[in-house]
Amino acid sequence: MAAFSAGNLEASKKHCLKWYPNFKPSMDVVEKYCKAAGDFMNDRKETIHKDRLPMDLFLEYLEIVFKKTFKNDKSATNEIGRVVDVLQDHWKKDRETVGTRSPKEILSLINSDPSLQTDFVTLMITLSLAHIHRSASQEKADPIQNPSEDGAICPVCGIKAHFGMLREEEGYRDLECWHCGHIWMIQRLQCPYCGEKEQHKMGFFEAEEIPGCRINFCKNCNGYVKIFDFREVEGFKPVLMLYHLATLIMDDLAVKEGFQPGSELSWSSAPEHKESACH
Ligand SMILES: [Zn+2]
Ligand SMILES: [Zn+2]
Repeated sequence: MAAFSAGNLEASKKHCLKWYPNFKPSMDVVEKYCKAAGDFMNDRKETIHKDRLPMDLFLEYLEIVFKKTFKNDKSATNEIGRVVDVLQDHWKKDRETVGTRSPKEILSLINSDPSLQTDFVTLMITLSLAHIHRSASQEKADPIQNPSEDGAICPVCGIKAHFGMLREEEGYRDLECWHCGHIWMIQRLQCPYCGEKEQHKMGFFEAEEIPGCRINFCKNCNGYVKIFDFREVEGFKPVLMLYHLATLIMDDLAVKEGFQPGSELSWSSAPEHKESACH
């Protein structure tokens, strides 16, 4: 099972480099990650239950796959070692449940420890959780035709989305779960995180040098969601995770403007300026 599986990876890589040429050095890292992650999973014969991850497998994934990916980067490999130690310490304290954890439990642990709220940790955690989930689960949920009442919460796995895309029909948006890959439609003109409907409390911005990517924000909950616009791109299903990695500068801009990821994932290394958010 490939590390990125939802969509046409080769076409997405080419298209990403065309739209975001500055992503080239990071694309090489993505290639290394795909190779290391694929090798790691191929070597693992055990059946993984998608709702309860064996923690030793998870920590081994972080350690082996990411140290291979960032082999020549000393500060990155040190950071990987630190993160594995911090997670291990947390899980040792909680002896009763040390064996397995659900993805939601892992994410809430990350959110409870400021030392784990960095863009690099988010990168490792999201890629590994998504890959392990997809390796364990072959089931496909039926696409939902009506807007979801739960907004940004994935109807299949219950994890909050970070990005989505515009639909052909004007004004409609789909979210895509970074974890299980499910795609669902959300209510028109409503904040997917807090349900705000007042139009003057919502808005979006774009950046000229980053085409096809929009930050939709809500002044009620201060959350933002990243929405891609592929209405001009025909013929392949984009791997949204790759586009997301290629446009992290938009997450930086959103945080600098005072908004926070509604997904609660720290995808930005920019310091937060909460006071600059307009109320
Ligand atoms: Zn999901
Ligand atoms: Zn909101």
